[in-house]
Amino acid sequence: MAEVIDGKSVAADVVRRVKELTAELVAKGTGKPGLAVVIVGEDPASQVYVASKSRTAKECGFHSLQHTLPAETSEQELLAVIGELNADPAINGILVQLPLPGHIDAGKVIQTIAPEKDVDGFHFINVGKLGTGELETAFVPCTPAGSMLLIERVRGKDLSGLNAVVVGRSNIVGKPMANLLLAANCTVTIAHSRTRDLPALARTADILVAAVGRPEMVKGDWVKPGATVIDVGINRIAAPERGEGKTRLVGDVAYAEAAKTAGAITPVPGGVGPMTIAMLMANTLASAYLAAGLKRPS
Ligand code: NDP
Repeated sequence: MAEVIDGKSVAADVVRRVKELTAELVAKGTGKPGLAVVIVGEDPASQVYVASKSRTAKECGFHSLQHTLPAETSEQELLAVIGELNADPAINGILVQLPLPGHIDAGKVIQTIAPEKDVDGFHFINVGKLGTGELETAFVPCTPAGSMLLIERVRGKDLSGLNAVVVGRSNIVGKPMANLLLAANCTVTIAHSRTRDLPALARTADILVAAVGRPEMVKGDWVKPGATVIDVGINRIAAPERGEGKTRLVGDVAYAEAAKTAGAITPVPGGVGPMTIAMLMANTLASAYLAAGLKRPS
């Protein structure tokens, strides 16, 4: 049976380290790292995420600011809020919770965030830095950055010669994940909905990352014996066995089957999920170190 990669424990290690490094930074006489989270409207799932981000920011010792704007906020008003946060020296990281209401152009909002405060790593400057290997100053999107840390726990930092297959090509997960694996010397293939014979391709992977959004799509016989399997997917499905109307979370990988063949695998929940918020804290801390003219902590 595969080793279970405990994302909760790795995420707790990251948060603990961020807390220590925050205390060191503050001891140098600079202010606390500041994280501003902006939410527009009342999407309940977004509110849960935002509350959890603010809570973890406080736990890290950050200055944590939350802007909750009504759903009818205009694009111009939101851009003005971003402008103020860009100019505020107490703020090192700005996160705009997605999705935004339909009348607001999310792309325009993201590109308005100052690249050095773009702790989500979605600004073109940060995407370009990751693509060109400028990892010293790039902000890398939190979910793939967290997934990479989990891979390193199992395989070490240098993945030379390993074949990696990333299933999914989104800008938020699939593409940055592929770039990180490439930077770590993997031979990388990105698969998507038009890929032919995905099971055969997946079986070539020493590292298999599933970021698709389809419950349990990756079957046990898609997994190469000994592979490291990273399941990014979070899917809520009906669970009648738990009672009427009950649901449960599953990933994009058929966990029980895949765990028989894989060398190591992330569970859902408790794998990649907890890493995302932890990496947001790490990115905000890095931004604060860079703003203070210090070397970014590794
Ligand atoms: P997107 O919907 O943006 O992208 C999904 C990708 O999967 C697309 O590239 C799509 O291909 C590909 N795909 C869809 N169907 C198939 C198929 N049958 N075979 C092969 N590829 C397919 O999703 P995200 O990248 O945003 O998220 C992926 C999953 O990760 C979701 O379950 C999401 O909830 C989860 N997630 C988890 C996070 C966490 O914190 N753990 C954070 C972010 C996301 P094509 O481009 O051709 O359409």
